[in-house]
Amino acid sequence: MNYFSSEFKLGILGGGQLGKMLLAETRKFDIQTYVLDPSKEAPSQFGANHFFIGDLMDFDTVYDFGKKVDLLTIEIENVNLDALDKLEADGLKVFPSPKTLRLIQNKGNQKDFYVANNIPTSPHQRFKNIQNLKSKIQLPCVWKAARFGYDGNGVKILKQAADLELLPDVECLIEELVPFKNELAVIVARSASGEVKTYPVVEMEFHPEANQVEYVICPARIDEKVAQKATEIALKVSEAFNHVGLLAVEMFQTHDDEILVNEVAPRPHNSGHYSIEASYTSQFENHLRAILNLPLGNTESKVAGIMVNLVGAEGYSGNVIYENIEKIMAIDGVTPHIYGKRETRPFRKMGHVTIVNEDMNEARRIAEEVKNTIRVISEIK
Ligand code: ADP
Repeated sequence: MNYFSSEFKLGILGGGQLGKMLLAETRKFDIQTYVLDPSKEAPSQFGANHFFIGDLMDFDTVYDFGKKVDLLTIEIENVNLDALDKLEADGLKVFPSPKTLRLIQNKGNQKDFYVANNIPTSPHQRFKNIQNLKSKIQLPCVWKAARFGYDGNGVKILKQAADLELLPDVECLIEELVPFKNELAVIVARSASGEVKTYPVVEMEFHPEANQVEYVICPARIDEKVAQKATEIALKVSEAFNHVGLLAVEMFQTHDDEILVNEVAPRPHNSGHYSIEASYTSQFENHLRAILNLPLGNTESKVAGIMVNLVGAEGYSGNVIYENIEKIMAIDGVTPHIYGKRETRPFRKMGHVTIVNEDMNEARRIAEEVKNTIRVISEIK
């Protein structure tokens, strides 16, 4: 297959910001891109050669879309897997494979998989519905919807009995609450032929209420030994999944420097956005190289990189305004990425800003300045 010819057709399921950034990298190659997304306002609509509107969970829609392309990838895990199975059986290359996606789509299956593969993770119990759960758990603990959660919206920390009353009646799991001192992530790139490279360990800081990442810091400011352990565990997870493409492995660093795997994403990930400006090869380019079975690019960083998520400010909904964006752009090493979502809502991911600097302390200082300066608001409160 010639990946350097405009005859080659790459399909992407999902047209959000990850797709938009992936599409930008496809322009380094000479290939045609096809995107499927349910929204006519999807951030990827203008970056793709061909944009289709349709339900990613509908068998026929996904199958028919797959029939148009030479290779299929995803930027969101919640897609119709039966359609992907059939496409794969028909001979289409689908990366990540439906088998990998099936293990990941259900958080209960994902946790069982870690246990079966001797991958350190917090203890868990699975429940088919809320009734069974109530009599069997010890507080505090963490409740997670087995399916369709994202950005923390399917996750609740349960502290008192009253917290249980607010839970939806869906398949779920309960995890031991990990009192971690750090959240870390490692992105592993793995090509179809088995070449593997890891990005440096990054450290994440979360917004206390929204449960969304506020800063991603690369490299993580942790002990070399801990970084090594996290990288080894990420590689073990990657080997167990035998995935093709990227695998972002999210982990907890406990107070006694144990590493526990939280969850994975088989695609470019928020924790790797810094790589567009800070790395020799961005995560998006390496995802493409991996699925196209080309040599992987250098995953090392050129400079310290910090990413600040741009999320909608509380109290504002409607047509978005990026207040003070010019001010932050006047600072050296600051690059905003605007995803192109027309409407802001509290905590909605609207973009991100990358800060690069030779000096990590200076990068961290600027990141805070950026965060305190730019605001994602709307005309009317
Ligand atoms: P999502 O898939 O929505 O991102 P995660 O499973 O990553 O959900 O959980 C969101 C956040 O909730 C994590 O980043 C972490 O801060 C917190 N969290 C999740 N599981 C645990 C746990 N077992 N112990 C403590 N905190 C947790």
